[in-house]
Amino acid sequence: MDFSGQLLSWYKANSRDLPWKHTADPYKIWLSEIILQQTRVEQGIPYYMRFRERFPTVEALAAAHIDEVLRLWQGLGYYSRARNLHLTAQQVVEQYRGIFPTTNQGLLALKGIGPYTAAAIASFAWNEPIPALDGNGYRILSRVFGIEAPPDTQRGKKQFTEVAAELLPPKHAGAFNQALMDFGSMVCTPRPVCDRCPLQSGCYAFARRAIELFPAKRRRITVRARYFHYLYIRRGAFTFIRKRTGKDIWHSLYEFPLIETDRAMSAKKLFATPEWKALFAQHPEHINRISSALKHQLSHQTIHAVFYTIDITETPEWIANEYLQIRQDDLDEYSMPRLLTLFLENKPTLSKSCSDDT
Ligand code: SF4
Repeated sequence: MDFSGQLLSWYKANSRDLPWKHTADPYKIWLSEIILQQTRVEQGIPYYMRFRERFPTVEALAAAHIDEVLRLWQGLGYYSRARNLHLTAQQVVEQYRGIFPTTNQGLLALKGIGPYTAAAIASFAWNEPIPALDGNGYRILSRVFGIEAPPDTQRGKKQFTEVAAELLPPKHAGAFNQALMDFGSMVCTPRPVCDRCPLQSGCYAFARRAIELFPAKRRRITVRARYFHYLYIRRGAFTFIRKRTGKDIWHSLYEFPLIETDRAMSAKKLFATPEWKALFAQHPEHINRISSALKHQLSHQTIHAVFYTIDITETPEWIANEYLQIRQDDLDEYSMPRLLTLFLENKPTLSKSCSDDT
């Protein structure tokens, strides 16, 4: 038997008897879905029953005072859910005469209903063949089919939805989506009970003893710290720049001569480095000014920069060979990273942080 057949036959024998499963009323399904967001089923059941009793219809909920809705919600947390519930009920009453749109697309037009909730309502109420994947669905599909994309990424969501859409039996869409939820809550849990699992023989993660690797977690971006010492070298009205090349940030932008160190370094220590000595060995320099440290945040890098304003009377060979000599007044004709333009504008933020650019 294939995945869907096995899942549905397991569901037939093991389905949880939950109060919202006995209805095709989109209002009640919606109510249960909102209550169950960030709430365990056992905790959500008494709330669902209380809401259903006090507000049997969407009109009753819409007409209630928000204070009463919030009072009934007390203990569930995330109160924005209750406020949105109330607002959406009012929208359904005012704009749709109390009748929920009857398709996934139509439901998505309601303010408080996102893709998962719309798909759940459409498939449970009208058997619309559309996958409704929550954390349970992602967990099962990632393990059984070895899907390596993290489900909380664009790429991952697309891949999971495509796989689920292929598996979804059109005539049993609601049951399939419910089955994924129940199976993920009872068998393929975060700590799964694989020895009771009917999908075991075809499970990618089980076969490779790699269950803990699925679903994949989004990789945390590691931010690299870099330490730049820029030399704003002046000779009379002139200064020196060059275009950045190579596989690094700010490709093709212009910059001043740069010494990069692998850690933060005081001016005194920098002047003692072989790099600094090599640059100015033949021609004495005059350090006119040293800026305070500027922290510049890029998406994957934090640049800690200090600018040294240096006056020279003769041009060292290394500058003549590698740098453009331009008038300081003409600097704004060259594209430079924002970090450097900030320095040139002598912004007061120079000693503080500035934000991203690439
Ligand atoms: Fe989940 Fe284990 Fe079954 Fe694979 S074998 S689907 S990991 S319960």
